[in-house]
Amino acid sequence: MRTILTLCFLFVFGIVAQAAPAKIASLHPLLSEMATLVGGDKVKVVNLFPKNGDLHSFSPTSAEVSSAVGAKLVLACGKGIEPYLGDLKQSLSEKTRILELGADIPDVMVPDGSHPDPHWWNSPSNMKRASRTLMLALIEIDPANKASYESNQKKYADNMDNLLRMGKIIMRRIPQNQRVLVTAHAAMCHFCRDFNFTPIPVHGIAKESEGDTASLAQLITTLRKNQVKCIFTEVNASPKALDNIARELGISSRPLVMDGIYPSMESYDKIFLFNTGVIASGLAPAKAKKDEKAPH
Ligand SMILES: [Zn+2]
Repeated sequence: MRTILTLCFLFVFGIVAQAAPAKIASLHPLLSEMATLVGGDKVKVVNLFPKNGDLHSFSPTSAEVSSAVGAKLVLACGKGIEPYLGDLKQSLSEKTRILELGADIPDVMVPDGSHPDPHWWNSPSNMKRASRTLMLALIEIDPANKASYESNQKKYADNMDNLLRMGKIIMRRIPQNQRVLVTAHAAMCHFCRDFNFTPIPVHGIAKESEGDTASLAQLITTLRKNQVKCIFTEVNASPKALDNIARELGISSRPLVMDGIYPSMESYDKIFLFNTGVIASGLAPAKAKKDEKAPH
């Protein structure tokens, strides 16, 4: 009888233990989405990043840190974008692993070569690679659900391949001489590598640092010479320097989502397709009107 009861207890306990999803905390909404898609119903994702937060000034509050307590993993972008990670680690149990998903993604340097661009998520191929790193970490903490993580990650990776193809199609009408991406901060270097653009960040790495006057004058000359048709601000910021450049050249400026954060676009697909669509409409030649006669 005692043996039967023990077996029943182990059976019930086993089911309960198996059913409890692993808690995963995340410091970026796009990583939260990745964890939800790759982890599926085997994980419970806690997003620590506040709506309308600024990636470059964010630091978790004590309430946000306490939301991460008990997490098996805390997902971070890495590449130095979260300078508070050391402090966060001190606040959490040794059992919580901070996983910097950008750590093994190859660097792409900013144009002046002074540092790598940390905004690796703007490349679907980098997201695919990061999803594999995440999958391996999930399998390590929860080997019983290996097949589920592998299957979900394959779907995620296939979607990133698809986005890469779609991006190329959406932007194929942009001629090579227009493949210049003038942005506020140095956030699109990984994207530019994938889609064969030359990045020209007007500001430094953080949004508040302004370019100097002589460099701006030189930039205006270069853009005029190349007849660049459009420059790119950000959805939540329209820096003065970019407004001045657009006015000086008499060209348009259009907003992009560069930090991967925009409350009305809570999916990687939406942000990526928004960005590629905006870039194509800003830099591709206008389509010929249907009623225009073809040249003889
Ligand atoms: Zn940024």
